[in-house]
Amino acid sequence: MRQPLIAGNWKMHKTAAEGQALAQAIRQGLQTDQVEVVLCPPFTALSAVHAVLHGSSIRLGAQNMHWEDAGAFTGEISPVMLKEWCRYVILGHSERRQHFHEDDEMIRRKVAAALRHGLTPILCVGETLAQREAGETGAVVAAQTRRALEGLTPEQAMGVVIAYEPVWAIGTGRAATGADAEEVIRRWIRGTLAEHFGVEVAQRVRVLYGGSVTPENIAEFVCRPSIDGALVGGASLRAESFLGIIHETA
Ligand code: PGA
Repeated sequence: MRQPLIAGNWKMHKTAAEGQALAQAIRQGLQTDQVEVVLCPPFTALSAVHAVLHGSSIRLGAQNMHWEDAGAFTGEISPVMLKEWCRYVILGHSERRQHFHEDDEMIRRKVAAALRHGLTPILCVGETLAQREAGETGAVVAAQTRRALEGLTPEQAMGVVIAYEPVWAIGTGRAATGADAEEVIRRWIRGTLAEHFGVEVAQRVRVLYGGSVTPENIAEFVCRPSIDGALVGGASLRAESFLGIIHETA
């Protein structure tokens, strides 16, 4: 019912030319239409990657955006600008929360603005190592989910993709276990969706796992009933490993 989704978060990697070459290799190597594939290059590569993906089923996403349509916000990019190129936008990534001090209220505004402009947010939630060790994982993930979606109608909430990304698993080579990610997603993400928007929304929203996903461990996640795919960082920067993850998911 929920189509699997594999999204590549390139972070601050790849020039326009490098991004174009990577997207080309992914397009050429893709051997399935069972999985929705999304590439999220830096802003400066969006146009070049868009040209490469023209006529393919691979979708384009951005890694961040501002919530206003336009204005005096030096250095920012608005949903109006993104929707020329993208269908998706990653919001609330832990690196944005940590290094750029994004809080739940900013992320809530961004999610609402994305939906208003027809962009699909990939909302990231996840606990830090300290929070996990203090036994706060459930409370943190539930609160981040609830606050980011506050004020949405059930129809709007249904249009969001959520990525569960434990902060301690990102870029560390230490992925969560499939069982653990399944439990957090089922209980604290889908549970929170059910509580605030109803059971249908909880069942329809796609939820991804993210954090040190590789072709070797992806099967461990996508075999779980609550997990619909992955948000991939490091392993999305090489066509071979990213395609490996997609083909293991199909
Ligand atoms: P990683 O990053 O796959 O390199 O751990 C995931 C992410 O930050 O989205």
